Amino acid sequence: MRALVLGDDGVTLRTDWPEPTPAPGEVLVKVLRAGICETDLQLIRGYHGFRGVLGHEFVGIALGGAFEGQRVAGEINCSCGTCETCRGGRTHHCPHRTVLGILKHDGAFAARVAVPERNLHAVPDAIDSDAAVFIEPLAAAFQIPAQLAISRDDRVIVLGDGRLGNLCAQVLSALSDHVVVIGKHRQKLDRLNALGIDTTLVDDRAAHAGADVVVDCTGSETGIPTAIELVRPRGTIVLKTTIAGTQELSLAPVVVDEITIAGSRCGPFDVAIDALANGLVEVATLISDTFDLSDGLRALERAAEPGVMKVLLDASDRCGVAQPPPQDPVGR
Ligand SMILES: [Zn+2]
Ligand SMILES: [Zn+2]
Repeated sequence: MRALVLGDDGVTLRTDWPEPTPAPGEVLVKVLRAGICETDLQLIRGYHGFRGVLGHEFVGIALGGAFEGQRVAGEINCSCGTCETCRGGRTHHCPHRTVLGILKHDGAFAARVAVPERNLHAVPDAIDSDAAVFIEPLAAAFQIPAQLAISRDDRVIVLGDGRLGNLCAQVLSALSDHVVVIGKHRQKLDRLNALGIDTTLVDDRAAHAGADVVVDCTGSETGIPTAIELVRPRGTIVLKTTIAGTQELSLAPVVVDEITIAGSRCGPFDVAIDALANGLVEVATLISDTFDLSDGLRALERAAEPGVMKVLLDASDRCGVAQPPPQDPVGR
């Protein structure tokens, strides 16, 4: 089958990749659409040392199990379900887990992906397949209020105007009246302004210092130092993005100002599905481009370009395996 595979020599498009063999409890899902996220780009740069089929944001049709024939989105953590961590309800942190397209489990930039049946969620008709790709990253945005009480009066800064920053800002601005997004790209900030969310260019950030909560969605080494600079004493920094490699950082201000730093990863799919189905979050305008899976390498390049928001892969196999890739990206 077709698949975008990360190997020792980088990413290649394979047409001879073996069909996934579902492990016990897993079902095959025929992928319709998948989304490229910052994590994929970081994995390609070496984060986590992952090898295999990339892709963890997807919607597809279940080919078996209780959801057979239905459109589904899949949670990405494949947990054992039996260890102490899982029995304690922290399945996302199962030490034995694999993670779709990120850790020891092939992902969804392929014609088909094997997913634990218990990870699947039916996608209601109110959410089209393009929007359904956002269920996974939107769930990650909803993990912030799942971890941290946000009140109307809280001054919240979202650092980063990219894909995840935009979703986090939309989620948080429903909870606080004082959300500001600090970013580098006027055009991306304008999108947020159009949704009624305040923004500031990074060079003008000093005016917003003293925030109760700073959410780092920059995917950059500059994120944490900037967050430390902008959070108030005893405030909270939420780290949403992972970066490849290590960084040097003085943690003295964290001690002196008694700052709480919270890592934040995957979140509740049911909340994200409800929000999309009820139109509470706007995602259509975040799609910059859609490419056929056969053109996946170009799609990955496009996703890494400055100014680009979400790039989707169309894996619905309209072109068939044997045909050459289209010359132009599939239109939106
Ligand atoms: Zn992602
Ligand atoms: Zn477990």
